[in-house]
Amino acid sequence: MSISQVDNDTMASEVFSTDRGQDTSDPDPIHAVEKTSDPLTELDRQELEDAMAALGVPRFRGRQIFHWLYRRGVTEFPSMTNLGRELQARLATTCAIASPAVNAKQTSTDGTTKFLLGLADGRQIEAVYIPDTPAQTFCVSTQVGCAMACGFCLTGKMGLTRHLTAGEIAGQVRVLAHETGLAGTPFNIVLMGMGEPLHNYDATMKALRILADEEGLAVHPRRVTLSTVGIVPALEKLATEPFMPNLAISLHATTDEQRSELVPINRKYHLVDLIEACRRLPIPRRRRITFEYVLLDGVNDTPEDARRLASLLAGLKAKVNLLPLNEAPGIPFTRPSDDRVNAFARDLAERGLTVSVRKSRGRDIRAACGQLIVEGARPSTGREAAQKMNR
Ligand code: SAH
Repeated sequence: MSISQVDNDTMASEVFSTDRGQDTSDPDPIHAVEKTSDPLTELDRQELEDAMAALGVPRFRGRQIFHWLYRRGVTEFPSMTNLGRELQARLATTCAIASPAVNAKQTSTDGTTKFLLGLADGRQIEAVYIPDTPAQTFCVSTQVGCAMACGFCLTGKMGLTRHLTAGEIAGQVRVLAHETGLAGTPFNIVLMGMGEPLHNYDATMKALRILADEEGLAVHPRRVTLSTVGIVPALEKLATEPFMPNLAISLHATTDEQRSELVPINRKYHLVDLIEACRRLPIPRRRRITFEYVLLDGVNDTPEDARRLASLLAGLKAKVNLLPLNEAPGIPFTRPSDDRVNAFARDLAERGLTVSVRKSRGRDIRAACGQLIVEGARPSTGREAAQKMNR
């Protein structure tokens, strides 16, 4: 199917018909994780070598399989030619490989390509290739839906269906890197697709380890940016990781009252605690924490907001990324004029902050920030999860 022929209506009906074939009860996330934890694609290289050893196969076979999967993008045992016929046949009967299926893709006039990916249980997620910014970037999801329910985010409206597994998170990058021919070249990863990465901590960290492996795609941590609403205990845990990605904190407001409205998790982890946790993070030399700030016309874009934002971030190794709202039906806010955006940015810069304004990519195909939503998806008990988290 040619990309430009896929319109939203086609995608919606495709997704809807897939969903109808499914058990419509909400999956228990734990159970769902267990069900898909068997495939070799859920394992890091060490575990893959252990799995081979457990089968009585030399460990280096695990390394070879890892190489085929990630470096070569090969997901069928019969095509892993250096394994030998006998082992290929044995693995084909004893081991599974799970790979997100490209159910549809759509390319924007600016070259941004949105992939609709199908998972083993029939759920669908979105991942986006953003070319030439100036780097090549893959924006991937960490959950089906999201429990955070931020007031301006379309994904938040879906609620959470389930966490993604490590293999499903790493698998998005594997599939996109090979689909775009970029495997083996340097590219960036941003965890800014559907979901809250720190709400799915272990799977996200394991996926980053798999992606960093030199035998695979070898994506160095400095090429990865994890965007989060700021779940404080998870941020603290992150500080102890050997693999610490760049951080982008979704701040979006400068008072507890307003942030609790826009980013409900703030009712649990208040601004001052979030900023204090950021101050304690071990930020490497020449690196900074990005603070994302969505600009909502007349809501959080006044000179008073700019003044408070500058004082909140004073003394932090910070930069601010302004995100003029990507409007969408059902989102009760409007995007400020360019003049207003520029005035806010200038104000922050004059107060000594490093500021950038995010140029929105792929808006015509709803691939921009906060616009990822699998059409036809039912609202789920994720709402309940959100309420629990936010309590
Ligand atoms: N859960 C993560 C990743 C979300 S997507 C997080 O909250 O950080 C990445 C960024 O896009 C976040 O800063 C998010 O708040 C922002 N975003 C969500 N909806 C948006 C919209 N409609 N317009 C602009 N930015 C949006």
